[in-house]
Amino acid sequence: MSETAVARTSTCPLCEAMCGIELRVEGGEVTRIRANRDDVWSKGHICPKGTVLGKLHDDPDRLRSPMIREGADWRAVS
Ligand code: SF4
Repeated sequence: MSETAVARTSTCPLCEAMCGIELRVEGGEVTRIRANRDDVWSKGHICPKGTVLGKLHDDPDRLRSPMIREGADWRAVS
């Protein structure tokens, strides 16, 4: 792991299983996700969707704020 990399633990938000995950973040980008063996519920197991959370996070089409529709257009709001 590089000096700028940060390791974090969290849970996958994609479904009710809430599997425990370990993330590596480098330069503000998620560079690795793997199962957290110490998680009391999932005990080191995740499904393929959990491993690609970083790609969802960095997807340029991901909404980053609530949107209000104004006619045919959309406007980002806080
Ligand atoms: S890793 Fe898969 S099974 Fe676990 S919470 Fe995420 S989507 Fe659900």
